[in-house]
Amino acid sequence: MKQADVVIVGAGASGMAAAYHIAIQSKNKPKIYILEHKSSPGKKLLATGNGRCNFANDVIDYESFRGEMPEFAYNLIDRYDREWLLGFMSDIGIIHTQINGYYYPRSLQASSVVNSLLSKLKELNVNIELSVHAAGIKKENGHYIINTDKGNYIAEYVVLSTGGQAYASLGSDGSGYILAEKLGHDVSRLYPSLTGMVMNGISFKSCSGVRAKGNIKLYDCNGFIKEIYGEIQFTDYGISGIPVFQISRYAAQLSDERKSPYVYIDLAYEYTFDELYRILKEIHIKNPYKTPADIVNSILPYKLSKAICSQYGNEKNNLKNICRIIKNLRLNIESVMPFDKAQVTAGGVYTNTINNDTMESFICSGLYITGELLDIDGNCGGYNLHFAFASGACAGINIGGKL
Ligand SMILES: Cc1cc2nc3c(=O)[nH]c(=O)nc-3n(C[C@H](O)[C@H](O)[C@H](O)COP(=O)(O)OP(=O)(O)OC[C@H]3O[C@@H](n4cnc5c(N)ncnc54)[C@H](O)[C@@H]3O)c2cc1C
Repeated sequence: MKQADVVIVGAGASGMAAAYHIAIQSKNKPKIYILEHKSSPGKKLLATGNGRCNFANDVIDYESFRGEMPEFAYNLIDRYDREWLLGFMSDIGIIHTQINGYYYPRSLQASSVVNSLLSKLKELNVNIELSVHAAGIKKENGHYIINTDKGNYIAEYVVLSTGGQAYASLGSDGSGYILAEKLGHDVSRLYPSLTGMVMNGISFKSCSGVRAKGNIKLYDCNGFIKEIYGEIQFTDYGISGIPVFQISRYAAQLSDERKSPYVYIDLAYEYTFDELYRILKEIHIKNPYKTPADIVNSILPYKLSKAICSQYGNEKNNLKNICRIIKNLRLNIESVMPFDKAQVTAGGVYTNTINNDTMESFICSGLYITGELLDIDGNCGGYNLHFAFASGACAGINIGGKL
């Protein structure tokens, strides 16, 4: 049995932030183990932001964080705000850059963040135990015993920072929920979030990969839910891209609740119906040999206009109908893409069982839960990493102050 002051389960964003802050906060050189079941740390962190690591955002608004108690995230981010995060990055040697309100390392390489964290943890004598899977956990005589496939660990404090169950190939396979449940925590229903959606109504197979700006309105059987504008990507299974990611967690929940979610997409948002019809009609009059797909190609990518025209009317005298489709393309949501294609898990350990000031469990003293394992999911744009780093740091500062 290996003895430690603190065992952290998971060498991801929040686990490494926790370890760093315990080590710098404590004056007594505590023994810290991070258990990581992958063969290298920070695999998911390396994949973030297309390998560029978008870790913060200029805007924090009412849409940034979701969960049963989103205020849990806002309270934390109020204290560990962007300035704090940029300071933390600077302390580990990361200079940042900002592109359209999104924050990245200046290198535009997630690997620079992972390498900087690892070199700091090495300097601070944090032990990272790789290829060690934490399978069980219990509290005995005031200490935590963590069972792994490589033997047991005993510690006074435990931080569960295993992530959720999105994109399991990068490490977070949902085993953290089982560990939390073993210690008495309840877990809410889980949904894939920040992912594409499988649609009924029109096939986009022929225009897979094509992107177009549009406004998406999400509805369920009871009416309008929300809308968002942005660049939509058409795929062989349906639609993807940032605006689709942003509504996917709501769509997943509505599908699960059998509320028949669907979307209306406006692919010519800047024009009214009448303006669009006038523009296309004029093109048709001036260019009588153009096919409907050629006419629509004046405002949409060709493959997309062809997909729409071939499925909704290829007749030139049908321009009005085509305009209606372009302004109001209805697609029924069959499902959202599964967890292994989702960036984030919506749902998790209920935050009303966690102390918002410290990340310590109200159920088990000495247990801390951080990051995506909690019932908080952020929007696309750096919010999830901000929450992971902030919650890890908060737990670390609290534990470090006690050691
Ligand atoms: C492709 C992709 C791109 C993304 N891009 C962004 C982005 O640009 N900006 C953003 O803010 N967010 C992004 N995210 C989301 C973000 O990466 C996560 O929300 C964040 O990493 C969560 O941090 P965490 O510390 O909670 O968990 P993770 O970073 O997932 O770390 C958890 C670690 O725990 C380990 N682990 C799990 N269970 C066990 C166990 N039982 N025993 C031992 N080890 C275990 C895992 O292997 C993993 O290393 C992206 C996610 C994906 C998948």
